Amino acid sequence: KGPSVRTHQDWTELAAKATLHTRPFIGGLFVESGDAAFENRNPATGGLLSEVADAGQEGVDAAVRAARSTYDAGVWSQAGVAFRRERLLRFADLLDEHSAELAVLDSLDMGKRVVDAYDLDLPFSVSLFRYYAEAIDKINDEVAPTPPGTLGLIRRVPLGVVGAVIPWNYPVDMLAWKVAPAMAAGNCVVLKPAEQSPSSALRMAELAVEAGIPEGVLNVVPGLGETTGRALGLHPDVDVLAFTGSTEVGRLFLQYAGQSNLKQVWLECGGKSPHLVFADAEDLAATARQTAFGIWFNQGAVCSAHSRVLVERSVHEEFVSLVAAEAAAYQPGDPLDPAAGMGAIVSREQTDQVMQFVDGARAAGARLLTGGERLTRGDSDCYVQPTVFDDVDPTSALAREEVFGPVLAVTPFDSEEEAVRLANDSAYGLAASIATGSLSRAHRLTEQVHAGTVTVNGVDAFSAWTPFGGFKGSGFGRDLSLHALDKYVGLKTVWINH
Ligand code: NAD
Repeated sequence: KGPSVRTHQDWTELAAKATLHTRPFIGGLFVESGDAAFENRNPATGGLLSEVADAGQEGVDAAVRAARSTYDAGVWSQAGVAFRRERLLRFADLLDEHSAELAVLDSLDMGKRVVDAYDLDLPFSVSLFRYYAEAIDKINDEVAPTPPGTLGLIRRVPLGVVGAVIPWNYPVDMLAWKVAPAMAAGNCVVLKPAEQSPSSALRMAELAVEAGIPEGVLNVVPGLGETTGRALGLHPDVDVLAFTGSTEVGRLFLQYAGQSNLKQVWLECGGKSPHLVFADAEDLAATARQTAFGIWFNQGAVCSAHSRVLVERSVHEEFVSLVAAEAAAYQPGDPLDPAAGMGAIVSREQTDQVMQFVDGARAAGARLLTGGERLTRGDSDCYVQPTVFDDVDPTSALAREEVFGPVLAVTPFDSEEEAVRLANDSAYGLAASIATGSLSRAHRLTEQVHAGTVTVNGVDAFSAWTPFGGFKGSGFGRDLSLHALDKYVGLKTVWINH
């Protein structure tokens, strides 16, 4: 599929026609829920989009029961890989057909540029469902070298019911990252989307049934974290809980597992990823464009956003002015307008939080190079300019804490050792990128920098084929690639004395 050719008006018309589901999708149907509900607001306009059910304990219980009985019935787990492959491929085709609709839902819910959702998020999700559908009939189990007269099989078996709890920054993709490998491996899933972005997940669950995936394989429970998320985390009949979100909430899921049934927990949490720029980088202007993309794409709401730039002092002034000049291309506007450089920040609360970091950096004496203002469009004040602070104290909040907004912290360094020390001096270890023309330095630093993904001469590379995830406070377990399947299968030894 080529890039979007729709105009601002086309997207606005599609958005006006969008249907936003609000009730839990359980056992193949949208079901009634209790009275608890929350408001889903469009951050781009401040307008109310829908009142969404908070599924809560009751909804989670019903969804887990549906997932468990579908799992036990064997209509998915025991259906054979050819069946699962074919249905998942059909699901991918349906997602592809409905790309524009799903892109609009994400844009309305959480403020991202609709063309980014359409041109990037949707194709990636579609490709992931195809990738895992095609993978599962090509992975063999193992036979161990046990003594003569015996047969030792090492089988990979689905684990049962997978709970998935995801954030709002990439609603469609975060669903795909969890659900595609979990379903391909034969599990049934109960997914809780973020309260800020429930609409696309509910529609995707409906499309899964349309694709012929048995009812009860993919259930979606919208709701708040402290109610619905907590109920899923504590549920005694959930076998695996895959979480993406903040480090703070990730910790809770480890506690929930300990307090309940010791379910396996996989955490993909936050980051404060560094971009190390050396004077020997071959093309400083291209590196500055990568830096800009690494912090301003998706309003900076990217777990692996490269929110820290560490730049060698001899090119520091030149480099920061190149980066500041890139801000022109990222000025926020209507997320439905392809010409907008960025969309809206997801909510007022999140915008307040971003501005607290901006104000804090100003007060701490960092040098504001560009941006730093909150903007208003119509009734919404959920817009923040692309912002660069220079000479940021590496011990300050802006250098250490995840902002999850379009705010870049630049700190100069004088030696390679200092750059590595600053890069690793973080509670997180999700991603890091290095700009250098030296092959030796590239190799040396990819070993020394402690992050789940280290990209050389690019920023924040990822793909379906390579694992994604972090070290330290960024969590553990890997999404994407064949390795993600490991999270959703158990190893079973079958021993036969014959
Ligand atoms: P969040 O942690 O606030 O919420 C994530 C999910 O957890 C949501 O569905 C939320 O409802 C739920 N939740 C919140 N409180 C809960 C509780 N007490 N009990 C159970 N569930 C609860 O994160 P967010 O604001 O939605 O997303 C931003 C965070 O996600 C950032 O920290 C970002 O780095 C991280 N993230 C990480 C990755 C990754 O792959 N490492 C990818 C995207 C986002």
